[in-house]
Amino acid sequence: MTLTREEIILYLQDEAGQKNLLNRANQVRKKHLGNEVHLRGLIEFSNICRNNCLYCGIRKDNPALHRYRMSSEELVDTARKAAEMGFKTIVMQSGEDMWFDQKIMCDIIEQIKKFEVAVTLSIGERSFADYKAFREAGADRYLMRIETTDKELYHQLDPQMSWQHRYECLLMIKELGYELGSGIMVGLPGQTIESIADDLLFLDNLGIDMAGIGPFIPHPQTPLKNEAGGTLDLALRTMATMRLLMPDINIPATTAMESLHPQGRIMALQSGANVVMPNVTEGEYRKLYELYPGKICVDDTPLHCKSCIGMKILAIGRKIGEGYGGHNGKLPQTKK
Ligand code: SAH
Repeated sequence: MTLTREEIILYLQDEAGQKNLLNRANQVRKKHLGNEVHLRGLIEFSNICRNNCLYCGIRKDNPALHRYRMSSEELVDTARKAAEMGFKTIVMQSGEDMWFDQKIMCDIIEQIKKFEVAVTLSIGERSFADYKAFREAGADRYLMRIETTDKELYHQLDPQMSWQHRYECLLMIKELGYELGSGIMVGLPGQTIESIADDLLFLDNLGIDMAGIGPFIPHPQTPLKNEAGGTLDLALRTMATMRLLMPDINIPATTAMESLHPQGRIMALQSGANVVMPNVTEGEYRKLYELYPGKICVDDTPLHCKSCIGMKILAIGRKIGEGYGGHNGKLPQTKK
């Protein structure tokens, strides 16, 4: 649906009208997408990163963090177990760890595709040649948040990075026929309601297939440790407004929302979201992939996480999606 910038700003600001907005987004989700909640198995396979984003716990200049990198075998094995558990999509996320070069990554993708799952990558900025090779190896979807469309803020928070370059990466990914996921954090220091409204319009314009929206949570070992961070309420209002703007895209109930409130993901599922990404990373790695503090379920096992969220989903009268859960119900075809 079309919303003007002014209307979006009103929705984002209106604390008194929040309940109505969230209910409305829930209705829109139900009308366009029904009651299915799609589960994606998330593997956090390396916390090594070449970037230095001020908000992020795995930034290069956090010396206190113990770094890990799964071997290709470990990564494929984790994906195999997730597929055996019933996950129809495997999401592979990491810092920008260039050890995973084009060849290694393609090899991993090809092996995981044999498990008959959709493959999503969330590994940041790469070359066009890399994105093309990953797509040809079988990757179906790509997630990369633009984080904010306030360019000045972006360049303050992501030193050495270029907003324009990140945007061009999103265009390349789209051109290559991936399903494209992007999104933002809300509550960044210096971010305004107006700029969040611009973010939503940007995502709509870009024609994304999925929108990940989460609160910024300050990490104690980063330069932003003393900042206030985002609230669950503003994150929910932003997500619900996104749902009104783009009625049929996939919207995950983000883990960061649950980190702020024990029922955060369920609240999100009742305010426009239709996807959950349970963590299927094993053992110590879960704790070490610490983008922000208070991350949920760090001591749990993949099976526990799947059944725990599965039961919560059923308890609110929703059902677990059975297909691949692509935007419009389709898995994108690989372009050769
Ligand atoms: N290297 C990949 C994955 C980044 S981590 C990439 O560049 O896309 C995934 C997301 O976590 C980021 O895009 C950011 O939106 C979010 N994130 C990072 N630090 C955070 C924090 N302190 N609070 C909340 N979300 C955070």
